[in-house]
Amino acid sequence: MEHSLMLPNQEPYGALYIHVPFCKQRCLYCDFATQSIDYASPELRAYTDDMILAIRRAGRNELLGGVRTVYMGGGTPTFLGQKYLTELFYTLSLTMHLTEDVECSIEANPDSLDGRMVRDLWALGVNRLSIGVQSFNDAELQALGRIHTAKQARDALAAAKERFENVSVDLMCGIPGQNLESFRRSLEEAISLGAMHISVYPLTIEEGTPFANMVAAGEMPDVDSDFQADCMELAAEVLQAAGMQRYEVASYARPGFECRHNIAYWTGVPYLGLGKGAISMAQNSEARFRFDSGGEVQEELTAVEALAEDLMLGMRMTVGIGPELIDRARQTFASFDEVCDELIERGLARWEGDRLVPTTQGWLCGNELFATLLDLAP
Ligand code: SF4
Repeated sequence: MEHSLMLPNQEPYGALYIHVPFCKQRCLYCDFATQSIDYASPELRAYTDDMILAIRRAGRNELLGGVRTVYMGGGTPTFLGQKYLTELFYTLSLTMHLTEDVECSIEANPDSLDGRMVRDLWALGVNRLSIGVQSFNDAELQALGRIHTAKQARDALAAAKERFENVSVDLMCGIPGQNLESFRRSLEEAISLGAMHISVYPLTIEEGTPFANMVAAGEMPDVDSDFQADCMELAAEVLQAAGMQRYEVASYARPGFECRHNIAYWTGVPYLGLGKGAISMAQNSEARFRFDSGGEVQEELTAVEALAEDLMLGMRMTVGIGPELIDRARQTFASFDEVCDELIERGLARWEGDRLVPTTQGWLCGNELFATLLDLAP
């Protein structure tokens, strides 16, 4: 099932992603690689078995020795149920050093996370739970086609907090029927229920989803980007006032609870993706490859293009781009300083000591900021 690229002098994988492509029901906005399936479907058994083999193969091929973060996402990993999840994490713990300092996250949906599963996951070495709440408002959840209620989200968080300190909550803004007040209440509820990390995503209408069809048929308004920008501003205000720090354009955390797995993605750390539709990134000093679980290359970047990508990804984070990357950029791109001056003049970036960091305006106009940096590579 899984094939990995083997490059000469390949950098070790620092992050492992395990994809579980199943959900009880598809949400109306979702274009992720996932399918709705029955709990009793034999596909769950078969998929778990394939995944166990893939993990063991990766271990045998010595691909997991440098892994510092593990993330099981989906889909809805908790939909797999206790038995299969136990088998997967048990296999992982036998195959790699799943020590306490390895961040080990699992995505959970409120309807399939209860006290017993929380205790099992914790006992198996999971140390971070990321709960897909989206909203604490029932009408908004219904509008999104989510299968859980606000009460289930509260109960799931309470259950999670009994064992886990490191609990993250995903919230969405721009939901049909949402207003700034209801969004504020969702933010406040996530904080008061003990979330240590909150991600805030604007709703996007993706091609081929029921939402795209509803917008095309005039049954639903298209996204209101001004309202979404107001929500992002409100999130910054409410979450920062509560002691959370915005460490990435859409991510807030109490100090020490930043998602190390996502930071790996944004800092050019190679990652191995296992499971249907999962993408891996492998690189050496010559090139960076992204390939799917069949081993087929989806994208190939030269070292110069990879450097421009690292600059772009760096600007997603509050810390921006550090001196080491800036030195390499200066040596590689003759126009780098000119481009920095231009970004500063347009109000999209600023110098903070020897780091180039994004401004709030830069994040609001993210496409401009990111495209300018990517365009550095010829
Ligand atoms: S739960 Fe997540 S992955 Fe599953 S359909 Fe909804 S948005 Fe998509």
